[in-house]
Amino acid sequence: MSTIKQALAVACIQLNQHPGAPARLEAEILLAYVLGKPRAYLHTWPELPLENHILNQYQALVQRRCLGEPIAYITGQREFWGLPLNVSPATLIPRPETERLVEIALELIPAEASWRIADLGTGGGALALALGSERPRCEITGTDISAAALAIAEENRRHLNLVNVRFAAGRWFDPLKGLRFDLVVSNPPYVGCNDPHLQEGDLRFEPQQALSAGPDGLEAIREIICDAVDYLIPGGWLILEHAFDQGDSVTTLFIENGFTRVFCHRDYAERERATAGQLPAK
Ligand code: GLN
Repeated sequence: MSTIKQALAVACIQLNQHPGAPARLEAEILLAYVLGKPRAYLHTWPELPLENHILNQYQALVQRRCLGEPIAYITGQREFWGLPLNVSPATLIPRPETERLVEIALELIPAEASWRIADLGTGGGALALALGSERPRCEITGTDISAAALAIAEENRRHLNLVNVRFAAGRWFDPLKGLRFDLVVSNPPYVGCNDPHLQEGDLRFEPQQALSAGPDGLEAIREIICDAVDYLIPGGWLILEHAFDQGDSVTTLFIENGFTRVFCHRDYAERERATAGQLPAK
């Protein structure tokens, strides 16, 4: 028999051998997950003895984390924009910096607007669902080439009961033929395919097609900016996430394709992370 406090202490020692991970936090997230309780429960009942089958389950999860598996894939959950989302190895794990795109979009969309919005490469639906929850009158369509990712997105949509969001299978704009949007958002793959980061940390476990796009990482971004011109209304906006060192290239691509009011936004770490531009009104 081991108490909550003892089990956490042991897990912390194991997790601490893997630098970069916040060991105590991760030990608590995993134990709370096994117990089906909030983390506060662990602090309230540190002396509570744990049954053996719980301890065994916990140890198995700590082992998986020690082998590098992302904590979000172990628990199958990650919060984005305050929404509890399911994630799986078929979806990218939503990043805090992607919440910047939601902020940028919300500054553009008037509160009562009924805009048509597309989220390209929606994955587990993070951007589409965040925008749908904030702007109930807007209609949001998320597209993704991965049927497995869209199954997770649809599950998330159902849990959140967002009737103004739908998903369509296909590459970027392909499932949207003939439609025009007021706003297109995307967090596309943008890591260069030879970037060593792909072999590090959580990225090793994430879908490569959601992460990397050609040698300079700009292949998907180029295609989306170019095609967006045919899918936006005059005066429509495009907002794209990109790598911290792609701001200048992405700005140039926006301008070359006729966008105006092009602006590069910084993330919470002050790195250039998202660019927005508007098609001229007729
Ligand atoms: N921001 C992610 C990373 O660095 C990449 C996400 C993406 O390619 N869209 O790891």
